[in-house]
Amino acid sequence: MSDIAERLAEAIGEIHVLTGSAISDDYTHDEALTATAAQPDIVVRPGSTADVSAILALADEAGIPVTARGSGTGLSGACIPEHGGIVVSFERMNAILEIDTENHMAVVQPGVTLQQLDEVTAAHGLVYPVFPGESSASLGGNVATNAGGMRAVKYGVTRQHVVGLEAVLASGEVIRTGGKFVKATTGYDLTQLVVGSEGTLALVTEAILRLYPRPAYAATVLAPFASLDGVTAAVPKIVASGIGPLLVEYIDFITMDAIARNYGWMTPPLRLAVRSCRSILPAATSGPSPGNPGRAPGCSSSAGFAGCPRSKRCRWTT
Ligand SMILES: Cc1cc2nc3c(=O)[nH]c(=O)nc-3n(C[C@H](O)[C@H](O)[C@H](O)COP(=O)(O)OP(=O)(O)OC[C@H]3O[C@@H](n4cnc5c(N)ncnc54)[C@H](O)[C@@H]3O)c2cc1C
Repeated sequence: MSDIAERLAEAIGEIHVLTGSAISDDYTHDEALTATAAQPDIVVRPGSTADVSAILALADEAGIPVTARGSGTGLSGACIPEHGGIVVSFERMNAILEIDTENHMAVVQPGVTLQQLDEVTAAHGLVYPVFPGESSASLGGNVATNAGGMRAVKYGVTRQHVVGLEAVLASGEVIRTGGKFVKATTGYDLTQLVVGSEGTLALVTEAILRLYPRPAYAATVLAPFASLDGVTAAVPKIVASGIGPLLVEYIDFITMDAIARNYGWMTPPLRLAVRSCRSILPAATSGPSPGNPGRAPGCSSSAGFAGCPRSKRCRWTT
């Protein structure tokens, strides 16, 4: 293995190849509570697609297992190197290569985090809508896991927003799939084959993502329910109402109590709601959207969000 480490150091630079005690504990686990941590033999931090290609070609030649790593926020232990070998960490490949404001597309390297992309798209009045609960997650990790999250009820999951990829096969060969267009009807859809493949088919080195106009308004309603049946009956009614919820989540009253205490939100109405109900259904909506004034559930303003003087001050905005 030391021979391989030396060859990797020659290929991508000594300071980006870690072995032994130089490998921090961070590379041995993700956020999974039950998965067993495992130490890789080597951690490499490529800075380019050519680096990734060189790493995979060397590993292929030597028969060494490779595990890709984004931000390590996964909840299933998928980036844990349970067979040792090489961990390819994408932390250095974190450039936003392009925000195409005419075609509403972003071209990103895999180490870009959701937070990073959100800050840059916000400046253009655009949004990448997938939010799998953790803004430090990388786009490479999101693509590899087909990340979903709370906004899937309105926008769908990662798969619906990836139109092209650059990726490196196990042999080191670099491929390109899809492109900066939404209408592609012929041939195999290799982009969608790679999305969700968790690093088993290829390592993603670039992703082309769809962007959308950033909603001007957002508000969240917390609705207390006395029973779980009440919650489940309410969800289809919210969806069928046409309000187009951004998210609809279920929170049991013990969790809501803990959240409200932790954030100092325990106002008298919320205290009463938490004590008297079994569960709470937060529903967020955003707007305006075409053909819909974007009124929040329960909002009495006839003008909808756009004209409602309270909507922008809503405490529970997302
Ligand atoms: C509080 C919290 C809430 C969460 N909620 C959700 C949720 O609602 N929905 C959801 O889907 N997820 C959720 N997650 C999980 C996590 O955020 C996602 O799985 C995320 O997509 C992982 O991204 P990552 O960069 O951390 O990837 P990692 O955890 O580093 O890796 C995940 C997988 O992707 C592979 N991978 C990483 N980068 C690449 C690459 N460039 N090329 C090929 N393969 C690669 C890894 O090998 C591994 O198999 C949550 C996590 C936390 C901590």
